[in-house]
Amino acid sequence: MIKVRHLLGISGGKDSAALAIYMKNKYPDLDIEYYTTDTGKELDETYELISNLEIFLGKKIIKLTVTEDEENHGYDPFDYLLQLKYQYLPSTQARWCTQNLKLVPFEKFVGNDPVISYVGIRGDENREGYISRKPNIQSIFPFRTNIWSEDVITKALSNSTLPFYQKLITDNNISLESDFTEALFQPISLKFSVKKKMDFLLYLSTTSVNKLIFEYLKTTNYPLASESTFSLLENEDNLVKDDIFRILRESGVGVPKYYDKVPFEINGKKGEYSRSRSGCFFCFFQQKIEWVWLFEQHPDLFEKAKAYEKDGYNWNEHETLIELARPDRVARIKEDYLKKEEAKSNRKKSNKLLDILEDFDDDEIGCAACFI
Ligand code: SF4
Repeated sequence: MIKVRHLLGISGGKDSAALAIYMKNKYPDLDIEYYTTDTGKELDETYELISNLEIFLGKKIIKLTVTEDEENHGYDPFDYLLQLKYQYLPSTQARWCTQNLKLVPFEKFVGNDPVISYVGIRGDENREGYISRKPNIQSIFPFRTNIWSEDVITKALSNSTLPFYQKLITDNNISLESDFTEALFQPISLKFSVKKKMDFLLYLSTTSVNKLIFEYLKTTNYPLASESTFSLLENEDNLVKDDIFRILRESGVGVPKYYDKVPFEINGKKGEYSRSRSGCFFCFFQQKIEWVWLFEQHPDLFEKAKAYEKDGYNWNEHETLIELARPDRVARIKEDYLKKEEAKSNRKKSNKLLDILEDFDDDEIGCAACFI
C-alpha cells in the first residue's frame, strides 16, 4: 500500500502553532511531519515560538530552505533571492517571496509523495488558504467543522455522484436519518448551492457526511483514497480565535509577544496597537498602524526595513518609510486607526447585513502561506 505522508506547516503564526498542539493532543496516533519555511526575516518572537513548539511536540520542526545551498551564499533566504535574482522588492502584485520562499520549498519537500496537508484556517474565517494545484497534495482543515477543501466538496456533492451514494448506501445497508437522506439526494441547483448543501448536511450529521465523502474519495486519485481509515471523520470541532489563544496558553507554548496590545495616546485619545500576524518584519501586507508599531516598538527593525527602500522600490505604494515615520504622519495614522476601530466596534453592535459583511478580520487579508 502507498504510504501517505501527513504534513503540517508552521508559519510562525498563532493558528498553525495551535494546530500543531491540537493535532498532537487530539490525534497522537497520526505520524505528522512538521516543517517551516524560514525567510530569515521573521521577528524574534516567531523563532521563539518555533523552539517552544519543538519542546512541546518532542520532535524537530524541519526547516526547509530556498536553495540546495545550506548557507545561501552567506545571505538570509530573502536577501539571497533579492540580491542574486530579483533585485526589486516584492509587493502584492509581484509576490516572488511567497512563491519562492514558501511554496517552492514545500512542493520540493513533498515531491511526488501523496500528502495530507493540515491547514490551520479557523472556523470563524472566510478563506480557503493555500490549495495546492498538485494532485498529490490534499488540504484538510481540522479547525473547521467542514474539514474538506472546496475542490473536494464540489466534486463529492455534484449531482453526478448521487448514483454512487445510492449504490453505496444500498449495498452496505447504511442507515441514515430520513432528513439527512433527503438533503443528500436533493440535487444542487441555483437555490441549493454546493455550500448550502454541505452546511446543511454538516448540521444534520457531520460524521455521516464525512464518512460518505471519504468513501467517495476512494474512487478518486486524492491522497486519502489510499488510506483505509481517517481519524478526522468524526471531528465536529469548530475553533475560533479565542480558542487558538487558549490552546497556546494552556499548552505552555505561549502566545507570541507581538500580539500583546501596547497602549498609546494621541491628541487626548487613547488606543492600543500590536502586530496582527507573523511573517517578515517588513511584510508589505502589514497595515499602516503596524508599521507605526514597528517604528515605535522595534526601531532597529524599522531601520532595517527602511534600508531596503531604494531606486523607487518601497514597501508601501504611496509613501516611503522615511515619509511614514514623520511625526505628523505617525499622528495621522494613529488617528485614522482609532476612527476605524471605533467604526468597527459600532458595526459590531449593528445587525445590518452590510455592516456584518464589512466587518472582515485582519487575519483574512494577505498571504495565507505566511500568516496562518
Ligand atoms: S511574510 Fe510578507 S514579505 Fe514575507 S514572504 Fe510572506 S508575503 Fe513575502
